[in-house]
Amino acid sequence: MGISSQILTDNVNLLKSKASKYAILGVLIASTAIIIATILSSYFHYGGINAENIVEAQKKNFALWILDFMPFIFAFWGQYTSSIMAYEAGALVMDQTQELRSRTTELELQIVRNATYDNLTKLPNRFLLIDRLEQAIASSGYEKRKIGLIILNLNQFRDINETLGHDRGDLVLIQVASRLNTVIQEPDTLARMDSDEFAVLQYNINDIDYLKRTATMISKSLAKAFIIDGLSLDVRGTIGVALFPDHATSASNLLRNADLAMNVAKQDKREYTIYSDELAQKRTTGCLTLTAELRQAIEQNELQVYYQPKLNAVTGRVDEAEALVRWQHKRHGFIPPDNFIQLAERSSLIRALSSWVLNEVMRQSSAWSKEGIDVSLTVNLSSQDLSSPDLPDIISELLTAHKISPRNLRVEITETSLMINHEIAFQNLTRLAEMGIKSSIDDFGTGYSSLSYLKMLPASELKIDKSFVMDMMENENDAVIVRTIIDLAHNLGLKVVAEGVETKAQQDELIRLGCDYLQGYGICKPKYSTEFSSWLQQENSQNKTSLTSVN
Ligand code: C2E
Ligand code: CA
Ligand code: CA
Repeated sequence: MGISSQILTDNVNLLKSKASKYAILGVLIASTAIIIATILSSYFHYGGINAENIVEAQKKNFALWILDFMPFIFAFWGQYTSSIMAYEAGALVMDQTQELRSRTTELELQIVRNATYDNLTKLPNRFLLIDRLEQAIASSGYEKRKIGLIILNLNQFRDINETLGHDRGDLVLIQVASRLNTVIQEPDTLARMDSDEFAVLQYNINDIDYLKRTATMISKSLAKAFIIDGLSLDVRGTIGVALFPDHATSASNLLRNADLAMNVAKQDKREYTIYSDELAQKRTTGCLTLTAELRQAIEQNELQVYYQPKLNAVTGRVDEAEALVRWQHKRHGFIPPDNFIQLAERSSLIRALSSWVLNEVMRQSSAWSKEGIDVSLTVNLSSQDLSSPDLPDIISELLTAHKISPRNLRVEITETSLMINHEIAFQNLTRLAEMGIKSSIDDFGTGYSSLSYLKMLPASELKIDKSFVMDMMENENDAVIVRTIIDLAHNLGLKVVAEGVETKAQQDELIRLGCDYLQGYGICKPKYSTEFSSWLQQENSQNKTSLTSVN
């Protein structure tokens, strides 16, 4: 402020002195004109140039009188205009300074806004939420009024971004924010924490039940399909909840604990989880030791493979089976693959695990072949396997080592794993197809693959995700999805497998719809190799199943 007004005064003075300079020049020119005119007048009117004639000319010549005024006029004009100029210039500079100042304030506000608000959703960002949380904790008083923190992480948002593009991903986020806004009211804070993570701060709440209700409302608000560019997307989220001061007494610990609860909910496939100390202990030590133990289990051959039959709906025979890995932990007992596969994927152990499963399945296939059991076995592959350029070579070497026909092996990959590094994935599938190994698209309907993409894929089969099949008799939407996938697959020349077939009613309906293969607890649960082979021999020796009678 001081500096700018100093600059203003300096500039005004400079302008003034410039205007005065022209006035002085005017005075000088006018004075010179007076001198010349007086000399000329004394010479022409009074006959010579001397002091007497000059005085005479000055006294009597009216024109010289007027001329004599000129220096005064210039001096006055100079003074006047310099003051006016200086005033106007000053006013102009003042105006501009004012404008500059208000623009700076606007900019400063914008910078503050950008630093505290998310540009895309216009919601407070992580920094503002933490700031408000810290303030709320600081002013919670002696009685430590309770503050709730809810973290919502969208499920499979990365897949949406990768398959539909970031623009559509952004549209999803904007819609999620607006739905959450209908659930969260002032003075509670709804913030966007990270790309696909939102948080809610609830002040002065009585108990954890209040937060549970909010969590349920948040889940419900996302339940309806999101329409993005005409596409109907199912966007769900997973929620972690933590309460101040019960679960943490500082902002950072509360955040960490809500985050941990959210991750546990993700792992357990629950809508939400409330933080507890036991949860934290189990998770932190659990994850690290479990990863180390899984590595050991792979190295020491402690995993097992179970087989679940795929029933050929046309022949009524079981000619294929899916290999599903099992881990019977020494202390924890049975650990479901959904839990340790995720762990393996996060720690890059998955490649070792897949190699182990592939080797074991081929060993078993070779053994069954020798016993005269003819069944093609399917192995599940993860996105990391599919992204690895040496996958076809590894499989080829194993086929040779176990003397297996490629006809007896199939790989299953999910839609979404195909989208990650899709060029290599595509090349790998093509090479496997050239080697005579068929592939299936697993969990179909849960990802976002486009029709044109599917058409290009060298896959021979679609597996309808069990979530649709399990509800198809009660839920008309699911029934339509199942019917549509069957028709779509057939139009593309692909076979269709329905997984999660549990009831006779589902079997009948799927056969009526023309589904090629059926898999599920209703036919047979996954079984250990010896049990599976006995079951299979018995089943096929009858040469028909309960389904053929239905057909
Ligand atoms: P998935 O590939 O979709 O396998 C089908 C899962 O559904 C299996 O669970 C199977 O036991 C279960 N299932 C089959 N029929 C029914 C039914 O009628 N009702 C119900 N409720 N469930 C049924 P599982 O064995 O627990 O495997 C879970 C997932 O773990 C698999 O899902 C697959 O994604 C993964 N997984 C299993 N083994 C492997 C493996 O060797 N490698 C890789 N990368 N993933 C594996
Ligand atoms: Ca599978
Ligand atoms: Ca599946």
